[in-house]
Amino acid sequence: MTEFGCARCYGEDALTALAFCTTRLRETHRLVRQSHFGISLRECPECGQAFVAIFTEFVDWTGGEDAQYFDIVPLTRTEVTSLAAQGSRVDLATLGALGSVRRRLSSAWPTGADKTIAWRTDSLSVREGY
Ligand SMILES: [Zn+2]
Repeated sequence: MTEFGCARCYGEDALTALAFCTTRLRETHRLVRQSHFGISLRECPECGQAFVAIFTEFVDWTGGEDAQYFDIVPLTRTEVTSLAAQGSRVDLATLGALGSVRRRLSSAWPTGADKTIAWRTDSLSVREGY
């Protein structure tokens, strides 16, 4: 396994890491900016580790709470270069594959359920929100 990040951005406690990552990571590239779907490349100010942050929201048109998902996946320099070059046409299957082979920080808040913040290693499926 490749080692990623530092104690701040990739530390054991998911809640602490998420609080750090959502407020302190620097955005280096914005790939997708839609109201319900966002993908950005970010960097840890402490250690320089690169990440891709994926925000997905599924609007519940019947009026409930909207389901929201936020995944932060560490990247190698080569991957950053490749994803940055793809820009808004970034391949979602590739992103999902990257998120499936290494530990990622996940915040999942499905409609009608509690918010779950955890480090996850199961497969990541990236699809556009709506
Ligand atoms: Zn770091």
